[in-house]
Amino acid sequence: MSRPDAMDTLAPGSTIGMLGAGQLGRMTALAAANLGYRTHVFAPDAEGSPCGQVADAMTVADWTDRDALAAFAKSVDVVTLEWENVPVDTVEFLTSIVPVHPGAKVLAVAQDRIREKSFANALGIATAPWRAASSAEDVAKAVAEIGPRCILKSTRLGYDGKGQAVIGPGTDPAEAWTSIGSDAGIVEGFVDFTCEVSVIVARGLDGRTAAYPVVENRHKNGILDRTLAPARVSSGTAAEAGRVATTLAEALGVVGLLAVEMFVTPDGHVLVNEMAPRPHNSGHWTMDACATSQFEQLVRAVCGLPLGSTELRFEAEMENLIGDDVLRWRQIVAEPNAHLHLYGKAEARPGRKMGHVNRVFPRRP
Ligand code: AMP
Repeated sequence: MSRPDAMDTLAPGSTIGMLGAGQLGRMTALAAANLGYRTHVFAPDAEGSPCGQVADAMTVADWTDRDALAAFAKSVDVVTLEWENVPVDTVEFLTSIVPVHPGAKVLAVAQDRIREKSFANALGIATAPWRAASSAEDVAKAVAEIGPRCILKSTRLGYDGKGQAVIGPGTDPAEAWTSIGSDAGIVEGFVDFTCEVSVIVARGLDGRTAAYPVVENRHKNGILDRTLAPARVSSGTAAEAGRVATTLAEALGVVGLLAVEMFVTPDGHVLVNEMAPRPHNSGHWTMDACATSQFEQLVRAVCGLPLGSTELRFEAEMENLIGDDVLRWRQIVAEPNAHLHLYGKAEARPGRKMGHVNRVFPRRP
């Protein structure tokens, strides 16, 4: 295929660099291949990985290995990522050679819960009340100010409920502080939410945005269990969630995807919990129920193609297959309305995301 036909547009045949080698990278690489793009994955531990199995090329090297990073950057036309905790230094170095979307500025905000919440609040977007904490004394002070029920979280590298402690009236702040195993924390007021929702927004190189419908997320043992699309919320709440996510994507200047997780309060408003500038587990349903999947949308955004339609074609329920859940694959493939997606992971360890199933249903009027 020809080289880019317009400034910033990468034609099919170009190579997308992917930082991170998990299932999100795998599904992006598959979507890229459908549009005729190639994928080169870079990760410290990509051997036999979900993405490495389907990518055209793979570099296994440390995030700090400048020679490997330079060779990788020169072999690709654009870089994107499936993990927002790639060191900012790594992304800045790559950016000196090749465009990286989303960029270092976006990652610096998304990697740190305090920056994330400050960023949202500065835009007038509501979150749970919060305080920064760097000692047990800070935790005690924050709990005294915010209220007896709080959650203490490490500010960085927490996911699926890891590095978190729920604080109630009888909790010893010192014990909670030690339990999170971090020297930087955030104390958040505990939100009595009616449900948890998320919105994924795509933003293209030209600044145009497209938001997917708001979905409802149900967790089990701190890990996403199911996503219901669309969320069973009022049209006012859905519109607010979409507005909030789009405002954040625009203010951050994301090129690619931004997933925004929110709590719905009893009065129908939303509070932002966290955001991730990459494909998101709560967007997997789009693969079988939307005009354009979140993975294809990411490829379109970073290659400078027009964004695809985010219209919902079916209602859907996504179920994560965690650990031994994957052993049900035989029953699942026999269900007429189920779409099974497995990630090629060899070992079904407890808590490990092995795949997911999208069940689709006709849209209700
Ligand atoms: P997170 O790692 O921030 O996504 O938190 C994991 C899960 O913990 C969320 O999906 C919620 O179910 C719960 N959670 C987190 N923060 C709060 C909060 N401030 N109030 C109530 N529940 C929370």
